[in-house]
Amino acid sequence: MEFKAMRGFSDILPPATRRWEMLEERAREVLEGFGFSEIRVPILERAELFSRSIGEETDIVEKEMYTFEDRSGDCVTLRPEATASMVRAYIEHKLYAADPMAKLYSIGPMFRHERPQKGRHRQFHQINVEVFGVSQPMIDAEVMAILMHYLSLVEATNCHLQINSLGCPHCRLEYKEILRAFLKDHLSGLCEDCRRRMERNPLRTFDCKVPGCQEIMSKAPPISDYLCPPCAEHFAEVRKYLEILEIVYEVNPRMVRGLDYYARTTFEVVAGGLGAQNAVAAGGRYDQLVAALGGPDIPGIGFAIGMERLLLITPNKTLPSGPSLFIAALGEGLRRKAFGLSYKLNRACVKTLIDYEGRSLKAQMRRADKVGARYVLIIGENEQRTGQAILRDMKEKKQEEIPLSSIFEEIVKRLKEIAL
Ligand code: ATP
Ligand code: MG
Repeated sequence: MEFKAMRGFSDILPPATRRWEMLEERAREVLEGFGFSEIRVPILERAELFSRSIGEETDIVEKEMYTFEDRSGDCVTLRPEATASMVRAYIEHKLYAADPMAKLYSIGPMFRHERPQKGRHRQFHQINVEVFGVSQPMIDAEVMAILMHYLSLVEATNCHLQINSLGCPHCRLEYKEILRAFLKDHLSGLCEDCRRRMERNPLRTFDCKVPGCQEIMSKAPPISDYLCPPCAEHFAEVRKYLEILEIVYEVNPRMVRGLDYYARTTFEVVAGGLGAQNAVAAGGRYDQLVAALGGPDIPGIGFAIGMERLLLITPNKTLPSGPSLFIAALGEGLRRKAFGLSYKLNRACVKTLIDYEGRSLKAQMRRADKVGARYVLIIGENEQRTGQAILRDMKEKKQEEIPLSSIFEEIVKRLKEIAL
C-alpha cells in the first residue's frame, strides 16, 4: 500500500520551509511594531461557532467546511477561518475587561473542502490580524496600511487594494429589498443557488461564480449607492485617512466578500499573476460579531493573508542551505575528535557536518562538495603530527593551516559570520 498526502493537503518541504518562516517572521516584526500580540486558538471548534458567525447561506458553511461528529457526539469543525475563533476567545477570556481595544494576530492552517487548483488548497495557511474595540474609521485605514506595508516589505508584486462599504444592518435592510427587486427582474438568468439565496441572503448572489450570474450582477445596483448617512460618512472618512497614509486604493462597489459578518468597510488585495484565485488578502469590519456571539457590543476589524498565494507572488530567493563546515577526519582517534568538535561548533551556531561512515578522505571530500559545504576542515595523520589542521575554502579555492590546539576558537572566529 502506498500512502500519499490527501488531495488539497500539501507537505511543505525544506528549503521552502525557510521561505515560510521568513514570511512569518516579517509578519511578526511588522505586527509587533504596530502593537499587536500573538494569540493561538484551537484548530477544532464547535461547528455552530462558524455557522453562526460566517452565516448559514454562505459557500463556506454550505459547501466547504470539514464538519464531523467526534467520539463524544459533538458536532465539530476544522476551522475554515480564524476570526470566529479569535472573537470567541476575546469574549471567553474577557479580553475587553481592562480595555476593549485589543490588537491580536495569529498564524496557522485553515481547512476548506474546495476544488484544489493553483492558489486553492484544502489545507491552507493564513496570517490573521484583528483589532477589537475601535469603531473610528482611522483604524480601518491603519489596518489596510499595515497590510500594504507588509506586502511591500516582502516584495509581493503587483498588489492592488480594493475597498468597499457594505453598510450596516440598518441600511442593508433597505438595500436588500432593492436588490431582490432587481434579481426578480432577472430571475430566468440566475442559477438555482442564486434563486434560493435571493430570498434569504440576496447579497450572496454577488459571490456566484456562474458566468451568467456574474454577467447579471455586473449590472446590479451597488450597495454603496444605498448607504445610510452615518455609513456613508464612515466610508468617506476611511478614504480620507487612506489618503493621509498615502495608500493607493480603488473602490470596487460590487465586492461583498463571502462572509456574512462583515459590515461597513470591506477590502481585498488582488494581485496580478495569481490567475483566477487573485485575492492574496481580504478583510473587513465586523461591528456586530462580538455581540452576535454573546459578547458585549464591541466593534472589530481585521484581515487574513493567504500564505500559499503570497508565496506565489514573492521572490523565491535561494538561500545557502548547505553546512558552513564539513570536517573530514581520518582514523578512529581523529574521527572521535571531529565528532566532539562538530557538536561544539553546532552549539555555537556554526552549521557543521561530519562523515558518520568512516569513508576515505577522497569520498569525504566528494561528500563535502555534494552537500555544498563552504569550508572543509581536514584532519588526518599528517595534521595530527604537525599539530596543524587544514581549512579549505571551497568557494575561493584557498586553504590555510590552523593550530589544532585552538581549533574551536579559530573556526568560530572565521566562520560564525558566514554561518548566520
Ligand atoms: P476566494 O475568493 O479565493 O475563495 P475567500 O473570499 O473565500 O477567497 P477569505 O475567506 O476572505 O477568502 O480568506 C482570505 C484569504 O485566504 C484569501 O484572500 C486567500 O488568499 C486565502 N484563501 C482562502 N481560501 C483559500 C484556499 N482554499 N486555498 C488557499 N488560500 C485560500
Ligand atoms: Mg472561497
